[in-house]
Amino acid sequence: MKIIVLGTGGPRPDPRRMASTVLIRLGAENILFDAGRGVMVQMARAGVPLGSLRHVFLTHHHFDHIGDLYDVMLNSWLAGRREALEIRGPQETERLVRVLQTEVYDKDIAWRDQGEPTFGGWAPVLAQDIGAGSVLDTGHWRVSAEVVSHGDGLDLSAQLRARWTCLGYRFEAEGKVVAISGDTVPCPGLARLADGADILVQCCFLATPEIEGEHFRRLARHTLACGDSVGRIAAAAGVKTLVLTHHRPRSDDAMLAALERDVRADFHGRLIIAEDLTAIEL
Ligand SMILES: [Zn+2]
Repeated sequence: MKIIVLGTGGPRPDPRRMASTVLIRLGAENILFDAGRGVMVQMARAGVPLGSLRHVFLTHHHFDHIGDLYDVMLNSWLAGRREALEIRGPQETERLVRVLQTEVYDKDIAWRDQGEPTFGGWAPVLAQDIGAGSVLDTGHWRVSAEVVSHGDGLDLSAQLRARWTCLGYRFEAEGKVVAISGDTVPCPGLARLADGADILVQCCFLATPEIEGEHFRRLARHTLACGDSVGRIAAAAGVKTLVLTHHRPRSDDAMLAALERDVRADFHGRLIIAEDLTAIEL
């Protein structure tokens, strides 16, 4: 099994980082977690066959996590996907995928489907809204989800809050566990999915010295885990390897060094501050 952190950035364009997306390679299978900016370019850079994708798991619907979902759908097909692509994610995932297929890219799909018959006709994309619990068990690998806390303390309307669910995932295969936090602050769901994980791929936006001003204090408390909490999350869960992703754009590495000091105060396992295309063998 190999985990490739395809992108390690957030919503803002960063010349150094594409948006946070994780790929798990297991034999010939390639399983994608999120589909943020640059995902297919990064898969191509990593030498992963684009047509091999069959399963995508979305953590939530911020644009830095689903912005290139159309690219996954269409380019996996152009690269040879003939079976359905299955996309699972929180509530309204089915609606988003349907809109992309039938309202945004319907003309493009029809044009290629009719005009370029060598592609063998449009290979459908299936979507399913999921919640916490067991999500999929293929016999080779299984995935479960937990609800995580990404904005719960913000002043969101009740209407929006009712539509806003964020998930983290726990992937298990070959007796190993990979936890993918999604965007979250410390919460019971995160603790459950990370429990005893061999690898935790954890969002971590700021080093502690960067948590200054009202905006970033609120962010660290309600939106994204930061250097003040990620080491404690990993230590409490008994994680073996902590991989940090979802970094803010920075002009130098000083705050990455600060982040390492943050984590080392609480966590003594293996630490990887991921860059785009960081690959971890498991
Ligand atoms: Zn988010």
